[in-house]
Amino acid sequence: MRASPADLVITGCTVLVHEEHEEHEEHEEHEGHDQDERIGFRTDAAIVVRDRVIESVTTAAEVRDLPAVERIEAHGQVAMPGLINCHTHAPMTVLRGLAEDLPIEEWFNGVVWPVESNLTAADVELGARLACAELIRGGVTCFADHYFHMDTVAAVVAECGLRAHLGEAYFSSQGPEGRERSAEFALRHRGTADGRITTALAPHAPYTVTDADLAATAELARAHGLPVHIHAAENRDQSEAGLARHGRTPVEVLERTGLLDTDLLIAHGTGILERDLPLLARTGGRTAVATAPRGYLRFAWPDTTPVRALRAAGVPVGLATDGAASNNSLDVWESMTLTALVQKSTEGDPRWLTSRQALHHATLQSARAVGLGDSVGSLAPGRRADIVLVDLTGPHTQPVHDLAATLVHSARASDVRTTVVDGRILMRDRVLLTLDLPSVMGELTRRLPALTDRGHGRRIQQYDT
Ligand SMILES: [Zn+2]
Repeated sequence: MRASPADLVITGCTVLVHEEHEEHEEHEEHEGHDQDERIGFRTDAAIVVRDRVIESVTTAAEVRDLPAVERIEAHGQVAMPGLINCHTHAPMTVLRGLAEDLPIEEWFNGVVWPVESNLTAADVELGARLACAELIRGGVTCFADHYFHMDTVAAVVAECGLRAHLGEAYFSSQGPEGRERSAEFALRHRGTADGRITTALAPHAPYTVTDADLAATAELARAHGLPVHIHAAENRDQSEAGLARHGRTPVEVLERTGLLDTDLLIAHGTGILERDLPLLARTGGRTAVATAPRGYLRFAWPDTTPVRALRAAGVPVGLATDGAASNNSLDVWESMTLTALVQKSTEGDPRWLTSRQALHHATLQSARAVGLGDSVGSLAPGRRADIVLVDLTGPHTQPVHDLAATLVHSARASDVRTTVVDGRILMRDRVLLTLDLPSVMGELTRRLPALTDRGHGRRIQQYDT
């Protein structure tokens, strides 16, 4: 036994693990990735954390006498990797519920972009604090954010203890300064907050950023080893408009401008067409897609992210919520449930997107999507200690016949009792330990009238596919 105490011991729980596969079994797989989707559960287990890393996943008996600075008795709870929100705009929590029952053109041009022309760094800070509180309460340990005033978001992340993948968004209408600011942000913040912050270049979308600027972004990404996070092929209209006007789909624009040669995270991709799939397959998993199905339902888009085709192309698909202005929540748990249901419905196949597959998207594939596939996304020795504890004693989660199904289809974000990031407890027994929510809401309420004023007639952009 080690002389120094462990930093944290979680014991008595069931632990979700990604089971190793036997080498010889690989040949039997059809689409090439089945072996990665083996989610298993170890009962009466324990997790030992030391120096912010998982030292071991073992039995409760093994740790009974192990000295520890912190000890959590977690009987009746499941320990799983913290959820990852692979595409959001955290500060947009301040616009939650402001633009409802509208098609996307009116949502952008009539409400969101006029209101965003009022945004100050102070609003962004309050929105980010509210978002981080919601994320931690919902068992999210890492989020990929794409917004403005990102220095402010980085400061909130550093303080509240979450992990984040941050990018300063830009439009071509801002001139070269937009792109330069995005690169400067990414380089300055990379590896900060004790390594919890990673960064990306963040062009808004092919419909707001010119091909020349996208090509310049790809150059910057290659020169500095930075990933890129972008909205693309968000819906079928955008892909069809691209073909009609320029003879190219948004994914073909990404390819032509060199972005498919970078570590690329595409938000949405519900407009990905058959002809795009070989281009995406060629990236060998360096391109990933984030799916946020609630928004697609709400905007009545005819498609969803083509998860089955992307899987066959070897493209990881992570779970996301997008911003709260279009998703109404930052609930990744709900994204997991909806992804499973929408995929079954779209494919007309109840056997597709099983609960274990959904958990795989929520864990390892989401980690890969944000470039953290080697450090988070599973509970195994050597991984960063990003752990959530889920209470399954409630009536809506009992009895448990199939634990994967219980987690995906019966449990809710509010069943998360404890959230740990990098070995630090950010919420314990539903109590937030690093954020003061009442003070955030007090200040935000005072600022809302100025923030939501649209009398000035300005908007930061014009939406046109
Ligand atoms: Zn978005």
